[in-house]
Amino acid sequence: MELTMTATPSAHDCPLLIGTILTQGVARAPGQEIVYADRARYSYRELEGRVHRLAGTLAALGVRPGHTVGVMDWDSHRYLECFFAIPMMGAVLHTINVRLSPEQVLYTINHARDDVLLVNREFLSMLAAVADQIENTNTRFVLLDDGDVSPLEGFDFEGEYESLLAAAPERYAFPELDENTRATTFYTTGTTGLPKGVFFSHRQLVLHTVAGRALERGTAQGELTTNDVYMPLTPMFHVHAWGVPYQATLKGVKQVYPGRYDPARLVRLFQEEGVTFSHCVPTIFQMIVGCEAARGVDFSGWKVTIGGAALPPSMCRKALEQGIDITAGYGMSETCPILTLALLPRDLVDADIDTQVAYRCRAGRPVPMVQLRVVDADMNDVPHDDKTPGEIVVRAPWLTQGYLHDAEHSEVLWAGGWLHTGDIGVMSADGWLRITDRIKDVIKTGGEWVSSVDLENLILQHPAVAECAVIGVPDEKWGERPLALVVARPDLAIEPDSIIELLQTHVDRGHIPRYGIPDRVAVVESLPRTSVGKLDKKLMRQTLAQE
Ligand code: AMP
Repeated sequence: MELTMTATPSAHDCPLLIGTILTQGVARAPGQEIVYADRARYSYRELEGRVHRLAGTLAALGVRPGHTVGVMDWDSHRYLECFFAIPMMGAVLHTINVRLSPEQVLYTINHARDDVLLVNREFLSMLAAVADQIENTNTRFVLLDDGDVSPLEGFDFEGEYESLLAAAPERYAFPELDENTRATTFYTTGTTGLPKGVFFSHRQLVLHTVAGRALERGTAQGELTTNDVYMPLTPMFHVHAWGVPYQATLKGVKQVYPGRYDPARLVRLFQEEGVTFSHCVPTIFQMIVGCEAARGVDFSGWKVTIGGAALPPSMCRKALEQGIDITAGYGMSETCPILTLALLPRDLVDADIDTQVAYRCRAGRPVPMVQLRVVDADMNDVPHDDKTPGEIVVRAPWLTQGYLHDAEHSEVLWAGGWLHTGDIGVMSADGWLRITDRIKDVIKTGGEWVSSVDLENLILQHPAVAECAVIGVPDEKWGERPLALVVARPDLAIEPDSIIELLQTHVDRGHIPRYGIPDRVAVVESLPRTSVGKLDKKLMRQTLAQE
């Protein structure tokens, strides 16, 4: 019997390429709108035309397949053009994390070996501080946003984006690439050491795009649908804005790119453009719904996927009460990112609010093509009883195959052929994942593990607490003890004892162990955040814990 099939010589073995996402989106919705804050508005057809012109521009600057093009910009229509044009040429798009320090930005530019840099004027001073240390002396610069290139000291600009595009040929002959060609790269700061580069191929991004939300449930809860108006609230430099711009383009939905995340402008765009779908980390969500401009605004019907950190039940409940369809999702830079989504089965969509909060705040269930296990130290699966913790390890067609130029960390990431997330979770019998901590953040006290996330969620129920982080601090007797850091709501004072009392009630009800009660509650002005707005517990352990 013949086991391998011989292809007909004239058959076309269609590679999975990012360009297909664009052409299919344009074919589906040529007149659909793409909006950039208050400054630009055009159709999908024009997007495609500009993608061709951008490729022509970059080719004229010497960009060839295998070259890397770095982008430093806020979320914009130009960034979307880069999402397509650069990979479609066979080059690699490096989405630079502009929230890193200048030294770290420099590190990533040198490490990724960027050949061309497209830079928004707002990041020029940051770049100027380190420009003389860019190792590739042939790097060429293009100015994004706002015309005049003359007074930019220290940079030899090739020109400004719009005028270069205007002068470029209308069409570019994009090659048919191997689907395994590297398409994108970016850096994750992780918890230790230097930023690490992850990278994704055309095939991976296409599969992530089509499988990411292909869950047929007979309900649109939490889903991006063709009638939605999409506005990202996760920066495009961070895991391709979770890959949703690619999904939105394929579906032909209206897209709104907000520029720098200014809360008042975000609220205005939400209202004026009729935004119905977004995604962000909890901090950004709070920044928007809690800002002055949000007072009295009707957010009902807004679908928001929360990821990057646990969705606190108190935040979920409040959002649901406002009619916001808030849903957790789970993933990481290394995983492109989507692994799981807390999309409700049809019978839960109308469940009571307590049940909904309980499900929506879990990480959810794996999306199609994701194999996800919760394992012990010997890689045995832990029982699916919603309470036995283990490390989450995964396989999927879209995981980074290693860290860029870093064999040592790549081996650790992929030990035993499964990608190690470094997250601790529990799995229920019906396949719902709950993340209880990061391996590095879990508090080990008296030989027992206490989930810092569980403690934070309980403390956030306190009426005077706006923000909270719980970290483990070294303790001679117990190994570690929990320390709670809390920020008060405006005009309210926090009495530390009242937090201990609140936690004691949960000990009495068996929700947390007795030794989970922190020895100390410190009221602080603010909590340090990472470049993508998450609690920076590494920094807290280094600084606040010592105070
Ligand atoms: P990053 O690579 O910066 O996107 O961070 C990924 C990490 O964020 C994961 O490894 C988790 O620790 C955390 N994370 C992402 N989604 C969730 C979630 N739904 N619940 C809890 N933690 C999450």
